[in-house]
Amino acid sequence: MSRIASVLLPLPLPEAFDYAEPEGMELAVGDQVAAPLGPNLMRGVVAALRDGAGHNRPLKAVQARLDDPPLPASTLEFVQWAARYAVDAPGQPLAIALRGARGPKPKAVRVVEATGLQPARVTPARTKVLAAAQGAPVSGAELARTAGVSAGVVKALLDEGVLAVRTLEPEVRFDAPDPSREGAALNPSQAAAAEALRAMVGEGGFQVALLDGVTGSGKTEVYLEAAAAALAADPEAQVLILLPEIALTQAVIARVAARFGAQPGEWHSDVAPPARRRVWDGVLSGACRIVVGARSALFLPFRKLRLVVVDEEHDASFKQEEGFIYHARDLAVARGKIEEAAVVLASATPSLETLRNAETGRYRWLRISARHGSARLPDIALIDLRETPPEHGRWLSPPLVTAMGETLARGEQVLLFLNRRGYAPLVLCKACGERMTAPDTDSWLVEHRYSGRLVCHLTGFSMPKPVACPHCGAKDSLVSIGPGVERVEEEAKALFPEARLAVFSSDTVFDAREARRLIESMAAGEIDVLVATQAAAKGHNFPNLTLVGVVDADLGLRGGDLRAAERTYQLLAQATGRAGRKDRPGRALLQTYAPDHAVMQALKAQDRDAFVAAEMAERELAGLPPFGRLAAVIASDVDAARLDAFCREMAEAAPNTAGVEVYGPADAPLGLIRGRRRKRFLVRADRGVDLSAYMAAWRARMKPRGALRVAIDIDPYSFL
Ligand code: ADP
Repeated sequence: MSRIASVLLPLPLPEAFDYAEPEGMELAVGDQVAAPLGPNLMRGVVAALRDGAGHNRPLKAVQARLDDPPLPASTLEFVQWAARYAVDAPGQPLAIALRGARGPKPKAVRVVEATGLQPARVTPARTKVLAAAQGAPVSGAELARTAGVSAGVVKALLDEGVLAVRTLEPEVRFDAPDPSREGAALNPSQAAAAEALRAMVGEGGFQVALLDGVTGSGKTEVYLEAAAAALAADPEAQVLILLPEIALTQAVIARVAARFGAQPGEWHSDVAPPARRRVWDGVLSGACRIVVGARSALFLPFRKLRLVVVDEEHDASFKQEEGFIYHARDLAVARGKIEEAAVVLASATPSLETLRNAETGRYRWLRISARHGSARLPDIALIDLRETPPEHGRWLSPPLVTAMGETLARGEQVLLFLNRRGYAPLVLCKACGERMTAPDTDSWLVEHRYSGRLVCHLTGFSMPKPVACPHCGAKDSLVSIGPGVERVEEEAKALFPEARLAVFSSDTVFDAREARRLIESMAAGEIDVLVATQAAAKGHNFPNLTLVGVVDADLGLRGGDLRAAERTYQLLAQATGRAGRKDRPGRALLQTYAPDHAVMQALKAQDRDAFVAAEMAERELAGLPPFGRLAAVIASDVDAARLDAFCREMAEAAPNTAGVEVYGPADAPLGLIRGRRRKRFLVRADRGVDLSAYMAAWRARMKPRGALRVAIDIDPYSFL
């Protein structure tokens, strides 16, 4: 055997598989190949090649090298790095990296062109065809249509040889961005930040900057200058802009297109397979130079990535919690390092992790001091619900209702923010007290009135709302407890029957187009009151929105995990930051039962630095991130006894290392999901410990059997 190819397959296998390289195939690392696996052929990527001399086990051979260009070495390196970091199989991130390759390849097209021969006979119809054929090459049918003649005229010209058919190989085309176009005229604070970013991009190599500026300070305008610098410096340079929500990608795509005169590649779960294929091919060939996308865009096969922007870097949506578990912000920094690219993390409320890196000088720290132009930050006031509660069965307190009335009377807009989908988070029987839960999961069913169903938000299970209590059989005894966005809309409608209302949540906005439509219609002033979950409460600019009402400011603090206060602060600073743009001052009212809580006080005083300092001090004392590191292990099984036994073995098997503490096993707060029992371990480590290596060593000692599953979550954000 001449050489052996280790081929990585996009499957959860522990390592690459060995195949024989067929005579004459001359494979190289990164080549995409078809490799046999069982009875099937799979797309895989050559990860390594070695001499096969002395190898005496028979190996299956690589079937073929695919037409697609090889995966760039840096993409392959990133995939392998990400797997090591996440303590998972390399095939998991590879599957994400190859996702775009699954779409249909664009087909070759046949076009008709003039050959230069003169027609034997000249008619007005023929003259029109020949004139039309001077334009961009199109199909025969299209040419006839353009010329306004019958298909027969074109056919006759083809028969005569005046026209000829040519097959055009598909070429992935993207309009070239023009970085020399004028951007916005920046104010001095923006200009200083933009200059620092341009310098950083100009120096080249891996560097990270935190772009820190309040909502509406123009961070987008500033990082687009960094993008312009990267694109201008090198005609092959590529730029990636990551956003936490699909709804936000839409707004940024429009701004990128306006700034550079070219549509960027769009990448998120809503993009259809053919369009994905086009972006994937374009990124790989280098034709697509700007990508705007959600977290998985990080795995695209960039040829020459020079700048990665992570906008709203603090956002927990960057954490992928299922399948391959990763944090896109952290991996963006890792990818930047591998690609020797600049990384810009932008936020009005940076994560403590990033702030710590900025404080210690690992990241450059660029601050934009104020909102752009005459826009001011909104005034923030707390409504103490203990003093001015809403009426029984209502959720909007009298002060908020009054403020809404004033705002609407001025012809301005209101955003009511409640981070809860559906109508009511809990349905219970007033006869027997039974709470409606999912049959195989420990979670309450959420009532959705639009669809008339009870829905499990964890698993998607749903059922029609029963007429009688399934537990005691009492009729009409089920009552809805607490508010969701649908219920708040109902209340707002009853209070302001003339107002135009809309709900923005992932139930009412199914895809990117719908999100864009609703955001545009809000921006155009066609909606008076928008009731929204976090999906619409971040990043957008609504010039006529002057009142933000936070229906339940305490929501995120309940059942708090280590980031509850930080997350609540970030989310509410974002939501309240939607109020007031241009010349209209805004205000935000936060309904709370805990007005003295540090988070509420910090929001009211708009004193982020004091809040961050207090939070940092607590974390440091406890050795929690960003001062220590965490990892979680979630073990699950359909069989509770087997799970218990396995977890006891696991606890025994945990390696003993200085600077690492292992807590658990404990029943997970969500002890049952889809019929599987769940238990958790939490690992805390000092910063200097290689936590991934520790977890890999532990995992190597675990031998899960049967239906038992183990998931490792490095730097967990969810503790459920
Ligand atoms: P951020 O991302 O910091 O929230 P944006 O970049 O979205 O802020 O800017 C907020 C609004 O102000 C946008 O409508 C933007 O177009 C406008 N804006 C910001 N800076 C400028 C500028 N220098 N010139 C004109 N408009 C600006």
